[in-house]
Amino acid sequence: MIPFNKPYMTGRELSLIAQAHGNGHLSGDGPFTKKCHQWLRNQTHASSALLTHSCTSALEMAALLLDLEPGDEVIMPSYTFVSTANAFVLRGAVPVFVDVRADTLNLDERLIEAAITPRTRAICVVHYAGVACAMDEIMEIAGRHGLAVVEDAAQGIMSTYKDRPLGTIGDLGALSFHETKNIISGEGGALLCRDPKYAERAEIIREKGTNRSRFFRGQVDKYTWVDVGSSFLPGEITAAFLSAQMDAAPEITARRLALWDTYHAWAARHELSGIIRRPIVPEDCTHNAHMYYMLLPDQETRSRFIENMKKKGVQAVFHYIPLHSAPAGLEAGRQHGDMINTNSLSDRLVRLPLWVGLEENIELVLRAADASLESL
Ligand SMILES: *Cc1c(COP(=O)(O)O)cnc(C)c1O
Repeated sequence: MIPFNKPYMTGRELSLIAQAHGNGHLSGDGPFTKKCHQWLRNQTHASSALLTHSCTSALEMAALLLDLEPGDEVIMPSYTFVSTANAFVLRGAVPVFVDVRADTLNLDERLIEAAITPRTRAICVVHYAGVACAMDEIMEIAGRHGLAVVEDAAQGIMSTYKDRPLGTIGDLGALSFHETKNIISGEGGALLCRDPKYAERAEIIREKGTNRSRFFRGQVDKYTWVDVGSSFLPGEITAAFLSAQMDAAPEITARRLALWDTYHAWAARHELSGIIRRPIVPEDCTHNAHMYYMLLPDQETRSRFIENMKKKGVQAVFHYIPLHSAPAGLEAGRQHGDMINTNSLSDRLVRLPLWVGLEENIELVLRAADASLESL
């Protein structure tokens, strides 16, 4: 069976872990964490980048930084992973779900303004498949209404919007290094802050609400409890693993893009025959080949396609159950307007295997997909 995902290892992870072991510094914020922070700052030009346990915890930090209060509202897509909503629900805030665009499957910026109420505090965008939302329009709306913008850039490392790295355009950005993403550490993530006002407090929130980081830099003479916080920082073993991956990020991205391009060229014929729709990447975006998906005509055809692929030894998978229709989403959130695109595409979307190393089997996957589409 060709799996949907297979974590790629560069070959250097274990030797860097051995170095971390040798350093004898195993808790967080040691030399490897600093190396990862430096890499992130170079790569994204964010003024502050902090490793976290996951993108989920980076989003939770973002919600804490915004000082959300119970009943405050956060506008977001429904077509996303649960953490986009959960991070804010944990603060008592209400996710307000808005439909996505039919082309990019990203939050439809034209629907945001009508969903704003006196309780709206923030917009949380999600860059699906590593392809950017219409950030200029979204930042303009946020500016006009005094709202914060959080980017769930879990899938967006190495992607850009108008030459700006994803996660650095809004006030706060959250990245994921989960093993299903492009650059990995098993579980892992990072919070990017554009504004120094958030950066300073983020450091404190991440260190259990203490000014420990300032103490170690000699900026205060004792360290103490100064704010709310939790433990959001990963240990050095995780950072060492991640460091090996970050060093290989350009090569990993190039190899993924080559696979994505192979799929996209192959899929053109099927799009012409009308059986599928291919992903759409707007001109002002470069993407990181996080995912190759196709849209089939309806849910039944998609199920048959997935079944056909399975019989041919290839794992193809669907994606999110929309949050507005999930039990916890119904309980904690509110839907604004209809969800025509969200409902339709979540029924019709299928993802094909995409991982570094798939190159040697890509022809097999394409032949299986040809046969699976032809026998629908
Ligand atoms: C993967 C993902 C997350 C969660 O990332 P973790 O690092 O596993 O917490 C959140 N949002 C989106 C859009 C994701 O794809």
